[in-house]
Amino acid sequence: MRRVAILGSTGSIGRQSLDVIAAHPERFSVCGLAAGTKTELLAEQIRAFAPAVVSCATQAGVSDLAERVAPRAPGSPAIRLEHGERGLIAVAAESGADIVLAATDGLVACRAVFAAAERGIDIALANKEIAVAAGEPLFAAAREAGARIMPVDSEHCAVFQCLLGEKTSDVKTVVLTASGGPFVDFTLHELESVTAAQALVHPTWTMGAKNTLDSATLMNKGLEVIEACRLFELAPSQIDVVVHRQSIAHAFVVFADGNVKAQIASPDMRMPIGFALAYPERLDRAVALEATRRALGLQSQQSTLTFEPVDHARFPSLKLAYRAALAGGTYPAVLSAANEEAGRAFLQGKIRFVEIGEIVAAALDAHNARPARLPEIEEADRWARSFTRDVVTGSRRS
Ligand code: MG
Repeated sequence: MRRVAILGSTGSIGRQSLDVIAAHPERFSVCGLAAGTKTELLAEQIRAFAPAVVSCATQAGVSDLAERVAPRAPGSPAIRLEHGERGLIAVAAESGADIVLAATDGLVACRAVFAAAERGIDIALANKEIAVAAGEPLFAAAREAGARIMPVDSEHCAVFQCLLGEKTSDVKTVVLTASGGPFVDFTLHELESVTAAQALVHPTWTMGAKNTLDSATLMNKGLEVIEACRLFELAPSQIDVVVHRQSIAHAFVVFADGNVKAQIASPDMRMPIGFALAYPERLDRAVALEATRRALGLQSQQSTLTFEPVDHARFPSLKLAYRAALAGGTYPAVLSAANEEAGRAFLQGKIRFVEIGEIVAAALDAHNARPARLPEIEEADRWARSFTRDVVTGSRRS
């Protein structure tokens, strides 16, 4: 029985993780849950999974939760309720977890993830921004404490599986696939006037708003390039990206002798979630097998897999990610934070879609790099957010 703590339990990945856990009660139990402000859903999750430690964003949220989960059956164990960063750390590092699934946005759970890794607790990392901004010190801390960091992202789960039994020194190139997002066929002119509603409809994946918008700009793939460098100790030049609209093949690994391994699975986040939580074992998922048979054309209808190059003129964000990866230090933190803030501004109707990449580029131009240590990373994150908000409100425009 593996005890799981989830940071970000009411988000898209958090909810899908609880689906996976609920389907395998013989393998997993939930010892900790942390969420932001969705206390009604969090209270439901507490009733269903009975975690020992729970955290939400604010003290008011704690009071609300205390009311919602009471009255409990007499003799049932008390729940420890916490809030804020202290609460996230309690859930990650003090709930008795064997593995912490980090599925928050931004760096809000960064210190909690570090606290768990430093105690040797395994991490299932769905929180891309932590891997991108703080990957260097996080992976070092995990290595030192003997904690395993498992990717919860279809592409990195794919690379991880392709590398099982292989030597990293034999890897020539890793190719990550991108669906292309909802605007893959839009002209530059059409991209000028796309709306938030259009950007939030993903053709193949069910994800939260942040990842869905990042898929539309292709910044999602850029963040994944940096994440792959961290996870598999590769140079940015060893990673390629190809557009693959069907989202069936998630990554390729090209070896020195010319052999290529690909991983194929139907696009369902519960696949990489289940893999990360159960590794080195595999879950029995009949639903997933059916979907894969359909995707592979084994069930009467034909299935075609296509691969196309990325058009960098229409989707400039991917090159910005390579630029930040090569520059190193605090540049990836600035890339990630500026992108998150610019994306939020677009979703609020404050800037146009094409301005997201322009603002991220401006933040990289204006940044003075620092070494990639946690305090400097957090400072770069704050700086990039404030820089981006200033650009959005126009105070830096001539
Ligand atoms: Mg992905």
